[in-house]
Amino acid sequence: MHSVQTFRHLHDEATAWRRYLHQNPELDYRVHNTAAFVTEKLASFGINHIETGIAETGIVALIQGEGGDGPTIGLRADMDALPIVESSNKSWSSKIPGKMHACGHDGHTAMLLGAARYLANTHNFKGTVALIFQPAEEDGQGAQRMVQEGIMDRFGISQVFGMHNMPGMDVGKFGICDGSIMAALDEFDIIVKGKGGHAAAPHLTIDPVVVGAQIIVALQTLISRNTNPIDALVISVTRLSASEAYNIIPEQVELGGTVRSLSSALRDFAERQIKACAEGIARGLGAEIEFRYRRLEPLTINHTEGTNQAIKAARGLVGHCAVDEKIKPLMGSEDFAYMLQARPGAFIFIGNGPTAGLHNPAYDFDDEVLPYGIGYWVNLVETALAL
Ligand SMILES: [Zn+2]
Ligand SMILES: [Zn+2]
Repeated sequence: MHSVQTFRHLHDEATAWRRYLHQNPELDYRVHNTAAFVTEKLASFGINHIETGIAETGIVALIQGEGGDGPTIGLRADMDALPIVESSNKSWSSKIPGKMHACGHDGHTAMLLGAARYLANTHNFKGTVALIFQPAEEDGQGAQRMVQEGIMDRFGISQVFGMHNMPGMDVGKFGICDGSIMAALDEFDIIVKGKGGHAAAPHLTIDPVVVGAQIIVALQTLISRNTNPIDALVISVTRLSASEAYNIIPEQVELGGTVRSLSSALRDFAERQIKACAEGIARGLGAEIEFRYRRLEPLTINHTEGTNQAIKAARGLVGHCAVDEKIKPLMGSEDFAYMLQARPGAFIFIGNGPTAGLHNPAYDFDDEVLPYGIGYWVNLVETALAL
């Protein structure tokens, strides 16, 4: 187990990679230049088993340990940026207008490259490390596609691990918890169908605006009056469209929103009860609804063994107190969830210091984090694949 000092010598090089990636952000599956950069670096470290073009632009590279046979563990980094105009004013700001690394995936990629460089030199483990570089995290599909294209079976991966930076957590700190660490993400649409007409003669209509308003208010009570206050569920109505005119009661009103939940029971509850609530109110007022519910991203659920290995690796790096092993789960979602559905493992947060928040135009990954992330990956490999 190494302290962070062991990885300081990689700081300058990893910073150069990170800033190059930051200046050249690419979106979703179109991370062609980023993938080429990653592939070239991996090859320059002497890694000769590199498969590209998985889920269009994803990469899996294998490093064998010198300790003989053992399992294969997957370490995953995401490579995609966001369609945001950068305002960080750093000298390494995005050179591509309207695109920026506002979620720190440039840092995630650089940290996994740094770990690859170290591990390809030392090989101080048994079995195999599978480095997974994934496109299209932000639209929630890249991880799922890499799993669908068979990476777990093809490379014999038995455990998977992921990491995300967290603004607001000190540099050099880590946070993790056993069980659900990030929420499931769903969307719903409710189309309220009434009977349109003249706004001056409401008695000749079935006003879907009024029905929709009642539904919005009633949805607020689903959580406050129906779920245990200790449980975490969010229902937000975020879309609303009705008539464009002042004097027309429209035929229909469309509502839409998002549901975030930290258990599958709450997720089932939300889907069932939003529909029942909307239907009941509409029927009572003479209208009808059409209801659509889409489950977009699963819960990110850490497994106990993987969580314990992650805690041990992080504590070996930064000491006992710098790792919060019972961090509160986040209501955001993460497509690494699909990899954790396919194989056991764990997802951890690494402190990014007092920077702007994720997806904010002023955000920037802090390069001081790089040796910590590199060291975490190396310690994890030497823990999970210990000689
Ligand atoms: Zn993001
Ligand atoms: Zn992210």
